[in-house]
Amino acid sequence: MSGTVPERVDVLVVGAGPVGCALSLLLGARGRRVLLVERHDGPYPLPRAVHFDDETARILQACGLGPDLPSLCEPATTYEWRNGKGVPLLRFETPAQGRQGWPSANMFNQPDLEARLFERVESTENLTLTVLTGLDGGVAPQEGEVPGSRSRRLTVAPASACARPTSWAATVPTARCATSSA
Ligand SMILES: Cc1cc2nc3c(=O)[nH]c(=O)nc-3n(C[C@H](O)[C@H](O)[C@H](O)COP(=O)(O)OP(=O)(O)OC[C@H]3O[C@@H](n4cnc5c(N)ncnc54)[C@H](O)[C@@H]3O)c2cc1C
Repeated sequence: MSGTVPERVDVLVVGAGPVGCALSLLLGARGRRVLLVERHDGPYPLPRAVHFDDETARILQACGLGPDLPSLCEPATTYEWRNGKGVPLLRFETPAQGRQGWPSANMFNQPDLEARLFERVESTENLTLTVLTGLDGGVAPQEGEVPGSRSRRLTVAPASACARPTSWAATVPTARCATSSA
């Protein structure tokens, strides 16, 4: 496990994919103390999504990635599918400029974008990134009461530990954090 586990956080985000990273950055920008946990060492390295629109670009801008987007994306104005012989099956045009101040169609490489989001998360104050590695099955928050308090306590443990608590408890670090009650 890497990263410092805080005693108290406002929000626990499980999974540092693009959604978890963006959510953590947006919450962190609003002053929330966020603990983001990820079972892998870093962003998933293989390409998947290849396109996002101008609204997604605006969200990424709110995450602080605005200056990075031109180098991460290539605007597109034509969407076309071809079969194996190269014959066009479908084709339509999109306006170059979307209504959100960004190109309406942005082609990108997901690992590059995730890596930039991840860097941003790691360098953002009041947001704690803890990377839980080598935990088969990831982590599973378990909720419990804090006696004499309105707070709820979350124990973040390896998911497999939930099924086999006795064998894991002594060997695997357990992150603890408390959230204020909703
Ligand atoms: C082959 C493929 C092609 C795709 N093509 C497109 C496309 O063209 N366009 C498009 O828009 N989308 C596409 N997608 C979908 C897109 O990649 C996903 O929608 C996007 O990655 C979802 O982001 P996410 O952050 O919600 O989840 P993920 O990217 O899945 O990230 C979740 C993270 O949470 C971690 N995690 C999960 N459970 C735990 C746990 N219990 N403890 C700790 N960590 C945990 C995982 O390790 C992972 O890092 C494609 C997906 C695939 C697989």
